[in-house]
Amino acid sequence: MSNVLVVGSYVVDLMSRAPHLPKPGETVLGGPFQMGPGGKGGNQATAAARCGSEVTFVTKVGDDLFGRDAMKHFEAEHINTQYIKVDPSQSTGAALIAVDAKSENSIVVALGACGTINEEEVKEAEERFKTADIVLLQLETSIKAVVTTVKLANKYGVHVILNPAPYQEFPKEILSDVAYITPNETEAFELSGIEVKDEESALMAARKIYEMGVGTVIITLGAKGAFLYSGSNNGELVPGFTVEAVDTTGAGDAFNGGFAHALSTGYTVREAMTFANAVAALSVTKIGTATAMPNKHEVEAILKREGIVK
Ligand code: ADP
Repeated sequence: MSNVLVVGSYVVDLMSRAPHLPKPGETVLGGPFQMGPGGKGGNQATAAARCGSEVTFVTKVGDDLFGRDAMKHFEAEHINTQYIKVDPSQSTGAALIAVDAKSENSIVVALGACGTINEEEVKEAEERFKTADIVLLQLETSIKAVVTTVKLANKYGVHVILNPAPYQEFPKEILSDVAYITPNETEAFELSGIEVKDEESALMAARKIYEMGVGTVIITLGAKGAFLYSGSNNGELVPGFTVEAVDTTGAGDAFNGGFAHALSTGYTVREAMTFANAVAALSVTKIGTATAMPNKHEVEAILKREGIVK
């Protein structure tokens, strides 16, 4: 079984749908309130586990109701919780999510405990770096945690997937130790200064990011799929799957979790991107983030339906 190590955020998602997203100063009456496990780290860990990987998740929660719910969620998903720290001095992170009638979203994330993961706390999981097939991380924690994770993965020769989301500044030197970077259009712009609107601009942005030292650049392009650039030729669009989207929150997380799983089980990068597109497409057909991640049978079914079977 493939071993995926995820270092990242856990936050509880507090969500309501409304006719439109509130403007500054506006209060909008929403529909039913929904609560569930989330955070980019937690979502990506859940996606990879549901695909069939053995997942270890390194994060931090508070000693509160939301933190205890988090543990229950990860245990139910068969995720190794050995390195999830409980910090009584912090509250568990929370994301305040509004989704409008067109399924666009607007999110405020209060990171709480997982925003304070320090170097030592990542190092406590050092043993797991030795056995991991792939390390997956995002920018939704402290930058110290990000840098330490990349260094440790490098020490044991484990490939790193960096999902630079949500974008915040980080020391670009670490990019030469990153095998795959997976920005969406917004994050690709933050990294490259090039606005990504189509395949042509995706290639320009990917080239710029590649020159920073990353092995392979993958820019996710929403329903269109994802653009692959590994330093030669003109890159390639790996098309997405056509589905009826009801909630695109967490699509990028589904993509990254699926991509990490597929890569660690021996798929080529292109195959792993198709697999990841399938996982992400299925996730947008359901409301929610972690709970909207598909299981491996659902992913296999959509791949089969499209005539793409490994
Ligand atoms: P993010 O969620 O980070 O903004 P994207 O919007 O680029 O990222 O979506 C990530 C991936 O999710 C895409 O590469 C694609 O595979 C899938 N996806 C997103 N939206 C849709 C959609 N409407 N239909 C099918 N797949 C989608």
